[in-house]
Amino acid sequence: MPLVTTESGKKLFVTEDGRKLVTVIPGDGIGPECIDATLKILEAAKAPLVFEIREAGASVFKKGLASGVPQETIDSIRKSRIVLKGPLETPVGYGEKSANVTLRKLFETYANVRPVRELPNVPTPYSGRGIDLVVVRENVEDLYAGIEHQQTPGVAQTLKLISDKGSEKIVRFAFELARAEGRKRVHCATKSNIMKLSEGTMKRVFERVAQEYPDIEAQHIIVDNAAHQLVKRPEQFDVLVTTNMNGDILSDLTSGLVGGLGFAPSANIGNEVAIFEAVHGSAPKYAGKNVINPTAVLLSAVMMLRYIEEFAVAELIENAVLYTLEEGKVLTGDIVGYDRGAKTTEYTDAIIANL
Ligand code: NAD
Repeated sequence: MPLVTTESGKKLFVTEDGRKLVTVIPGDGIGPECIDATLKILEAAKAPLVFEIREAGASVFKKGLASGVPQETIDSIRKSRIVLKGPLETPVGYGEKSANVTLRKLFETYANVRPVRELPNVPTPYSGRGIDLVVVRENVEDLYAGIEHQQTPGVAQTLKLISDKGSEKIVRFAFELARAEGRKRVHCATKSNIMKLSEGTMKRVFERVAQEYPDIEAQHIIVDNAAHQLVKRPEQFDVLVTTNMNGDILSDLTSGLVGGLGFAPSANIGNEVAIFEAVHGSAPKYAGKNVINPTAVLLSAVMMLRYIEEFAVAELIENAVLYTLEEGKVLTGDIVGYDRGAKTTEYTDAIIANL
C-alpha cells in the first residue's frame, strides 16, 4: 500500500482501490458497542476506509503488559497514522500507567481538540442559546507527565511540567484552528495567578503569540472563572485553549452543556499521528447492555473523516445524525431515560436509514 500525501500535506496509507487505512481500537467497557455502531454507519455511508482492528487497555493489562499497548498495535498506528478508538479503562491506584496516556505520549499527540455544539432535541438548560465552542487542551505536558514520588510516608508529590515550546505549539494550534474554522475569539484559561511559573508560562506565550493574530480577539481568563463563565454564559466562548489538567476538567463540563458525554467527540492531533475518540470513558455500568449512546464516537469518526479529507462522507454522516436527533423518534436512554430509551442498535439503524 503506498503512502500518499494529501492536498494539505498529510501522509496517509491508501490502498490501490483508494481506501484509507485506519487502526481501530475497540477499547473497554462500552467501547466495543460504540465502535461497532460507528463502523456499521461508516460502512453504510460507503466511507472509503480499510480497518486494522488492534487491542489496547484492560485486556492487555490482564496479559501482564504494563504499558497497556502491545507492539502490534503500535506497529499498526505507525503505518496507518490514523486511529479510531474506543475508551480504555485506566487501572486506578496501582502500578500500571494509563494506556491512553501511553498512546498520547508515544505518538506525541500534543493537541486534544474537543468541540461541543447545541444539538437538536437534546434538552439542556441552554437550549436555544447556540453553544458552539472548541476546547483545545494541551495533551502531553503538565501533571500528566507521570512523574510521581512518595516524598515521605503520607506525603506524595506529582510534578507539573509546562514548557515554552509545548505552550507555543498548542497556543498556535488554537489560533490556527480559529482561523481555519472562521472563529472570532480565543480564550486562554490558566491558573497563572497561583502557579506563576508553570501555568504562567502558557499565559505569557499566549499573550505573545496573540500579537501575530490581530484578526482574532484574544483574552486570558483565570481557569476557575472560566468554569463559572462557562456555566453562566457559555455562548461567549468560541475557542478555549488551556493546559492539560484544566482542559481535562473543563471539557467534561462543556460536554455537559450540550447534553452530556454521549455527544462529545474529540481528536488527539500530533505531527504525524491523529487519534480520534469520544471524550467519555468506558462507563462500565452500561457495558454490554445495548443502551449507550454511540454519537460521541461516531462524531469523532466524522472529525477523522474531515482530517483525512473525506469531506463529503463526513457531511453525509453528520447530517444523518442531526436529522435522526431532529426527528426525535429514536433517542437513546441518556437523553430520554433508560426505561424509555432506544437500544444502541436501533439508534444506529435509524441513522443508517437517514443517510
Ligand atoms: P465515563 O465517561 O466512562 O462515564 C461517566 C458517566 O457518563 C457514565 O456512568 C454514564 O452515565 C455517562 N456516559 C459516558 N459515556 C456515555 C455514552 N456513550 N452513552 C451514555 N452515557 C454515557 O467516566 P468514568 O466512569 O469516570 O470512567 C470509567 C473508566 O473510563 C475509567 O477507567 C477511566 O479512567 C476511563 N476513561 C477513559 C477515557 C479514554 O479512554 N479516553 C476517558 C475518560 C475515562
